This record gives sequence, C-alpha cells and structure tokens, in this order.
Amino acid sequence: MAEASVMEKIVSLCKRRGFVYPASEIYGGIRGFWDYGPLGVLLKNNIRDSWWRDMVECPPIGPDGHPLDMVGLDSSIIQHPKTWEASGHLATFADPMRKCSKCGHFVRADHLWDMLATSSKWFDDLLQEFTPISGHIDTERLMRWAKTKGRKLAPNLALVRNPEVTLSWLATRVNGQPDVPVEMMEFTRHIATEQLNATGLQDPCPLCGAELGPSEPFKLMMESYAGLTQTPDNKVYLRPETAQGIFLQYKNIVDTTRVKVPFGVAQIGKSFRNEVTPRNFIFRSREFEQMEMEWFCHPDEARTWYEFWKTERMRWWKSLGVKEENLKLRDHAPDELSHYSKMTVDIEYKYPFTAPDFGELEGIAHRGEFDLTQHQKHSGQKLDYFDQELQLKLKEQGASPEEIKAKSRYVPNVIEPASGLTRAVLVLLCEGYTADPNRPSGEYMRFDPKMAPIKAGIFPLVNKDGMPEVAEKLYMDLRTKFMCEYDPKQSIGKRYARMDEIGTPYCITVDGETLKDQSVTIRERDTLQQQRVSLDKVDTYMTDRILK
Ligand code: ATP
Repeated sequence: MAEASVMEKIVSLCKRRGFVYPASEIYGGIRGFWDYGPLGVLLKNNIRDSWWRDMVECPPIGPDGHPLDMVGLDSSIIQHPKTWEASGHLATFADPMRKCSKCGHFVRADHLWDMLATSSKWFDDLLQEFTPISGHIDTERLMRWAKTKGRKLAPNLALVRNPEVTLSWLATRVNGQPDVPVEMMEFTRHIATEQLNATGLQDPCPLCGAELGPSEPFKLMMESYAGLTQTPDNKVYLRPETAQGIFLQYKNIVDTTRVKVPFGVAQIGKSFRNEVTPRNFIFRSREFEQMEMEWFCHPDEARTWYEFWKTERMRWWKSLGVKEENLKLRDHAPDELSHYSKMTVDIEYKYPFTAPDFGELEGIAHRGEFDLTQHQKHSGQKLDYFDQELQLKLKEQGASPEEIKAKSRYVPNVIEPASGLTRAVLVLLCEGYTADPNRPSGEYMRFDPKMAPIKAGIFPLVNKDGMPEVAEKLYMDLRTKFMCEYDPKQSIGKRYARMDEIGTPYCITVDGETLKDQSVTIRERDTLQQQRVSLDKVDTYMTDRILK
C-alpha cells in the first residue's frame, strides 16, 4: 500500500469512529484546529496520564539509585507580556516566509523543497501519472508530460524548463531496478534543488510555479488583549510553549516545597502557535498540547543529565508500545539550534507522511542558564540557587571560604524534555493502524492494551434469554477499574469489527453456556483467539494484561 494512502485511511478512520474531527466543521472547518472526539479524548488522556504518572507521581530512578525529585505545575496560558520579551520569543519566534508574486501563496522559506516535493499540484499529477509499479518509468512519456501538462502547472520548474537533464537523471535512478521503489522525495529534491541551481532558475511557487518574493519574518505568537481597552498596553500573548510558566514559578517552587537541585518541574497544557502551514493532520496544528519538564541541575552536571534524559525518554516512548525501529534520536546541527539552546536532540518518529524519513516527536534541549538569567535580568528578581549540600561538602573538603561562597550559589542549568501530547496521539494512531484484509473491518488499531481508549467490549450474544442481565452485571463490576463499553445490539460480528477498528484489546461475550457454567468467551484483538474464562476470573485476566 502506498504510504500516502495509509495516512488517508488513518484520517478517515479517526473521523468515522470518533477519534478526531475537524474543529468547527459545520462552518467549513478552521485550518490548524482539531477536536478530539469521544475516543480521541480517551486516547489523549491515557497518554497524558502515563506521562504524568511516570514523570511526577512515580518519577524515574536516578543514577544514585533513588527516585528523582519531581513536582508538577499548572501555570496560566497568558503570562505577563514581559515573559516573552525575556524568553526571546518576541524577537525571534518567527518563521521566514516568502510570498508568491502571482497567486499570493505563502511558503516557509526553509520548507520550500519539502513543499515542492509533497504538496504541489504538479507533483501530485506527476505521481498519479507515473507512480512506478515495477520501478520502471517510461521516460519518453514522462518527457511528453513535462512538455505539455507540466508546462501548464508549473512553468518555471526545472522539470519543464530543462526536462532532458532532469529526466535523464531520473531514468538512471529508476530504470533497470524493477524491485526498488523510487524515492520520490529524493527525486523531487533533486529536481527542485540541484536542477534549479544548475539552471539558475528562480525559486518557484509550489502551487503555480511563479516567482517567490524575498524571505520575511512571520510572527508565530497569537495575540489578544486583556483589559477594557484594546490598546498596545493591554496586548497579551497566548503561550507558544508551556516551559516559560515553569521558569516564572521556579523561585516560588524552591521557596515553598522541599525540592533541592537537581529537581524537575513538569507541566502539561495547551500551547498556541500561528503556524504558517498547519498540516499533516494533527502533526502541526495551531492549538496543541505539550508535556514539558524542566530539569534544574548544577551547571557541571548538565551534560550528564542531558544524556540521562535522552535514554530515559526513548525508554518511555517504547513503553507506550512504539516500536524501536520507528524511533530515532537526531542531534541538532549548530546552525539549527534555538536561540536558548546549547545542544538539542530530537526524538523522531517514522510517520507515514515522512517515511522512510523521520519527523520530530520530542525535543530534548540543554537550555543552559539562559531562561533563568533572562528572567532575572528582565524582572529584577534574583533567581539563583543556594546549594546548602554543596556548601557542606566543600567545607568538608577544606575549600576556602571564598571558593565555598563562589561555588555554592549559582544559576541552575536546565535540561528540557519537551514533547507534543497531540503529536503523541498521532504517533499512537500511526503505530496502531494495521491493515488486515482477513478480518471483517479490513483494518484495526493495534494499541498497546494500556493505551487503548476502551479496554473491553462486553456483549450479550443475543439481547434476550437472561444474557443481557449477566453481561450488564459484569460491565458494572469491571467499569470501576477499566474503561469498558456495554453493547447489546447488532450481530456479534459487527460488534467485534467495530471494537477492532477502535483498538479494543478484549471482547467479552456472554452466551448460552455462561448461564450453565458461569464462563464467558474472551476474544483477543491481535490474535483473534477466543478462550473461555470463568466469570470470577475476568477481572484477574484483565488486570494481568492491562495493569501489568
Ligand atoms: P517543529 O520543528 O515541529 O516546529 P519545534 O522544534 O518548534 O517543532 P518545540 O518548540 O521543541 O517544537 O516543542 C516541543 C514539542 O511540541 C515538539 O517536539 C512537538 O511534539 C510539539 N509541537 C510543537 N509545535 C507543534 C504544533 N504546531 N503542533 C503540534 N505539536 C507541536
């Protein structure tokens, strides 16, 4: 199956079964905004709760063998506007944009080549005409296409202006390799970059092929007003990341709780970015949720903690059922680092729309002392830390009073694992989606049982003969511990098919035998195996498999 169509199928299943709906759909939708339906909100909450439990309630064990020191926070979405001056967002949080001189379309300058490869009309048409089934492309036909259809769609593209060079490259790449699928991304990059460079053509608009204007910054923070008058004095910003709320409360947390460096503050909440090109379903939206943790540590230990969190966060994603081969770590190149970052590594996932490449899921940044120092400067409040334990240790080691004074007061460094909750929903949807022509639904969601929105469907085989009463009683018992659904209607096959599509790991059916021997049938989603389990053992069966 072509990868693009996997994504289409996931989006369609999400709508059909109530995972994700376009926001404001009855008004035609609003770009970059999504609503999480009855199943989507359950899936999202399961991820959120796992993160919170594993970060705050039951934090990882540190290198010293003891649990890490971690607390939670829920800070306001709107903060004092100076926050964003200090954090650097007002000055730097912008994307470089280029406007098409002909059709007015905006393109992110640093995404131009990806746009050309994935969303331009000419490329869609080219793929439709030439998606090679055998890996062989008829170059003469492609040449004719370039000269006629391609000319109309994107007159400035190298493919049209200089088809011979472009196509001969394409031919050498794919001809004679029947089983090798063409890496279209690479192919278009070649057309778009190398050929354009070679021919000196202008950068084309991916929609119409006309010339793009110069690159200009496009601010990503959403603005509003707080107060009676909508004047610049009352202008406020919807936070573009949850992290700054943590830095603003760092001092209160140190003063009012028992945390000691190193410690972490974790937060989950909404963030807003006026993304220029919201796309790929819920991957990049304008309103989204983040799960961020700021780890405050001694500057000399920051590097070690950075490595610790890299390993820990990879382990966590795998614990949600994400396969190792679909995850990878990618270090940021120096010119890619955000203004606050000393080093950053992304945890990337192989999304159907990036495959065989990977796309960001979480960023782990070494923010140094940037944020606390900036807020110290802009607020005039001291945000350094007095390390009593270090002071004692230095005293014991016989350090001089000057050295003790200089070393035991410092601005902590920060290591930040920051991930998107809504992006994590997408990852679990992509990871779970499994085509299976051999089952009635044709596809199913292979969620890890602990992440599945519904843990069990509970059915009477028929809606009579005493079966509904037993099934409903079982439902009433189980629902206090597991999210279950009681469904007495439709044929059993249809009920199984629906549960497969929404990723329910277990279906429990009460039938004629149940009334005689007090046992039920439990059908397991992935293996399709059915086994008889005594009614009083169903709870243990579920507990062993879900809460293990
Ligand atoms: P990207 O490079 O994808 O724009 P970023 O590097 O700007 O992301 P961060 O500022 O590091 O992202 O935010 C941390 C996490 O928040 C990201 O790894 C991602 O999971 C999530 N995230 C960021 N922007 C969005 C968005 N527009 N929609 C959904 N999730 C997002």
